[in-house]
Amino acid sequence: MKTDVQIAQEAKMDPILEVGKRLGIDSDDLYLYGNYKAKIDLGLLDRLKDKEDGKLILVTAINPTPAGEGKTTMNVGLSMGLNRIGKSSISALREPSLGPSFGVKGGAAGGGYAQVVPMEDINMHFTGDFHAITTAHNLISALLDNHLQQGNELRIDPRRILWKRVLDMNDRALRNIVVGLGGKPNGVPREDGFDITVASEIMAILCLSTSLSDLKERIGNILVAYSYEGEPIYAKDLKAQGAVALVMKDAINPNLVQTLENTPAILHGGPFANIAHGCNSVVATKMAMKLCDYTVTEAGFGGDLGAEKFFDIKCRLGGITPDATVVVATVRALKHHGGVAKADLGTENLDALTEGFANLERHIKNMASYGIPVVVAINKFPTDTDKEVELLKDLTVKAGTVAVICDVWAKGGEGAVELAKVVVDKIEESENKFHYLYDDNKSIEEKIETIVKDIYGGDGVDFTSKAKKKLKEISDLGLDNYPVCMAKTQYSFSDDPKLLGAPTGFTVTVRDLRVSRGAGFVVALTGDIMTMPGLPKVPAANNIDVLESGEIVGLF
Ligand code: ADP
Ligand code: MG
Repeated sequence: MKTDVQIAQEAKMDPILEVGKRLGIDSDDLYLYGNYKAKIDLGLLDRLKDKEDGKLILVTAINPTPAGEGKTTMNVGLSMGLNRIGKSSISALREPSLGPSFGVKGGAAGGGYAQVVPMEDINMHFTGDFHAITTAHNLISALLDNHLQQGNELRIDPRRILWKRVLDMNDRALRNIVVGLGGKPNGVPREDGFDITVASEIMAILCLSTSLSDLKERIGNILVAYSYEGEPIYAKDLKAQGAVALVMKDAINPNLVQTLENTPAILHGGPFANIAHGCNSVVATKMAMKLCDYTVTEAGFGGDLGAEKFFDIKCRLGGITPDATVVVATVRALKHHGGVAKADLGTENLDALTEGFANLERHIKNMASYGIPVVVAINKFPTDTDKEVELLKDLTVKAGTVAVICDVWAKGGEGAVELAKVVVDKIEESENKFHYLYDDNKSIEEKIETIVKDIYGGDGVDFTSKAKKKLKEISDLGLDNYPVCMAKTQYSFSDDPKLLGAPTGFTVTVRDLRVSRGAGFVVALTGDIMTMPGLPKVPAANNIDVLESGEIVGLF
């Protein structure tokens, strides 16, 4: 069996100018990064403003296993399938983070015969967006520490600095550090730490901004610290926004690449799906919707996190109306929800599958509650037996939802032709009744309660005393109207990663809250949320290599 990177390297790519031309993009609007990657001028969005929007399909999933259940793979496969049935379609994805490529998870350019290419570039430095975000973020840090050094006119309390540094690397040794050591000329000593770049608020801002001036305003509004008197200090108080926007001037343009079947894909931004909203940029999604009939996008983690935030944060703040949701389900993850240990997931187990189906069932119900049609895509793995796949389909149909068995990993777009037809039919025959889960004017507590009860299936929320104090601070800042971004484990509907399936009778503990003032949401932290991942005992990096011939191995 060929590896992902082998398949990708054998691809016959079209020049990206051709891919752009087929979408009607003029070469003046494409900034080339070699022959196969280009940035699309953001101004095109404005030039297309009178054109009617195409439909928008969200690909989400059940609660995954740590390996991922194939949202990106299915997204790419579905958009190729739509093109095969004569519907123009663009895959609108997130850009991968470098960190996980070297760790457990691997890259994020799809898999098998459903990938975006050039996969090795996309998974590495791509067009430099993440480097720009890293630099932009750390520029604010440098300005802040310099402000302390130069007399601290703003009276920033070094113990109340919220703004950490970032790096696009899984590097646990940087989680907690001390900066400014070495005496008077070398800064003011204080505790600091690093997050991974995808956790930067600048990443979330990039993904929610609608223009360069909007980006600049949001950057100025980032809450970076409090003063000794308890007054909020914003990035604009450090006069950071202009220089930071300059660093981001190219990063704000969406990136055009292609799938293995030479159909277009727009990759742009990639915020974390826990402390941020986990979706590609609003501008990329909107641009794709202007350029094709069916845009297929994704949101990180399962439907409880990614999809909820896609609807309630991205669609709300971006003014986007989605048309359908595809829920990716796998036999192996549902068996896992039915109690099967990781080592036994390759063995047929119909009882465990039936038991674990409860997880999918709750996701279906949740997604349907947003008022747009839901289709289940069964992502077939080589280890699944026919009996298992058929049983999963039957269970889904019995629960009242359409399920389509897909094999995009092995067959590319051909493996999603039926899914494409079903999704198109569903969109055409349904009336779009899309609505958000909660209203802006509800309090932050009420919003969290609604998410926990209506999406997670929990009984209620406990706020720690620290969280209660933060709720008051947020209210004092006048930010009660912000949507909530839940930071929760991706493995369970609850805040306990071990509660699999469709747990009931639990409460969720909110231990802290944070304000992403620039991005425009309030983060509610439950459990231990990792913002700087570490590497495993045997990191993927140990098997990655590039040979003299240019051949790349070990990337997946
Ligand atoms: P997600 O986007 O949900 O995190 P990915 O699409 O990145 O998941 O897929 C996770 C991993 O699983 C990738 O390495 C991909 O190649 C692999 N994968 C996805 N679907 C299949 C499949 N049907 N059969 C085998 N491997 C698959
Ligand atoms: Mg993915």
